[in-house]
Amino acid sequence: MSTLVEIRMSRGKHACLGCSGGFALFGTRAKSVELPGYCRACTDAFRPRLNRFRTELSVLLGRSVAQPEHLRSELLRASHDSGIALPMALHYSQGVSCAYLQQVLTFFVADQKLDQSEEDSFRELKDALQVPGSAIAPLMDQLHWYSTVSKLRRGELPRVQTAAILMPDEIAHLQVPARYYRQLTSSYRLHQGQLLATNRRLLFTQTDGPFEAALSKVVGVHLVNENRIQIDLVRRQGSGTYDVGQAHLVVETLRAILAVANREVVAQAASSRVIPADVKSAVYRRDGGRCVQCGAGDYLEFDHILPFSKGGATSVSNLQLLCRRCNLAKGAKL
Ligand SMILES: [Zn+2]
Ligand SMILES: [Zn+2]
Repeated sequence: MSTLVEIRMSRGKHACLGCSGGFALFGTRAKSVELPGYCRACTDAFRPRLNRFRTELSVLLGRSVAQPEHLRSELLRASHDSGIALPMALHYSQGVSCAYLQQVLTFFVADQKLDQSEEDSFRELKDALQVPGSAIAPLMDQLHWYSTVSKLRRGELPRVQTAAILMPDEIAHLQVPARYYRQLTSSYRLHQGQLLATNRRLLFTQTDGPFEAALSKVVGVHLVNENRIQIDLVRRQGSGTYDVGQAHLVVETLRAILAVANREVVAQAASSRVIPADVKSAVYRRDGGRCVQCGAGDYLEFDHILPFSKGGATSVSNLQLLCRRCNLAKGAKL
């Protein structure tokens, strides 16, 4: 027979919600890190039941990508079985929930896009699992990133205001402060300015003379690191490295602008690129939910070792988990 432990998840109180004892700075009466509002001694007393819930949660989430409705009722049952109130049990098990949500998100974006329905179910799952704000923040950052990139890859380009003089049918899509490294014979000269991209041109405005190139003169855009991109033009002026903030986003935006200009966007949605669920599970498990190159556990993407465009198969042996950065770095080399 288990009695449900009643809890109020409030912080900053002076007494433990379990034993009503005042908090000490150290020792068993100190505030518990795992259960806000409780002392360590009470947390230890609850631990067997908390661990039981966490094990049940792992099994529950390990079965498959759960339906939010189904998940909610299963969680209530598991909470009842373990004799711990659900908010407390979920708080204690947030590591399991986050690992699961990371996998869900990685599976959703395996086809290189995040649909609105996928975004909605992710939010529902996250709400059902009641992950605290601080723990869910890195996942929400990823959700926002993939949502933004999906829009770009669908050809939905942002519009920005610019002081630059544009042609009548010209639309500005990107403007960021940038530092351009102009290569001289044996050194670099640094130019501080604004990098502007429109539906027709790439412009770099600076005090000592701007330069520009038609989009058709842009050969490639690559990520060098978190704060640096490389733009290759058919000519030397304007080619080279630029320091920009949010370099990932700048690269994705510039590539989307080029794709729209070259009418390449539709080609992205090839259905043969869809990875079967069992293949995703096998690769994710084999790679331990981490980037095989740098070990990162977020912004994970399924990468074709031999590129899909070069005939690489969508198979367990030809797929690996790479983080966004390693994947982009690899893309630059191909
Ligand atoms: Zn206590
Ligand atoms: Zn990596």
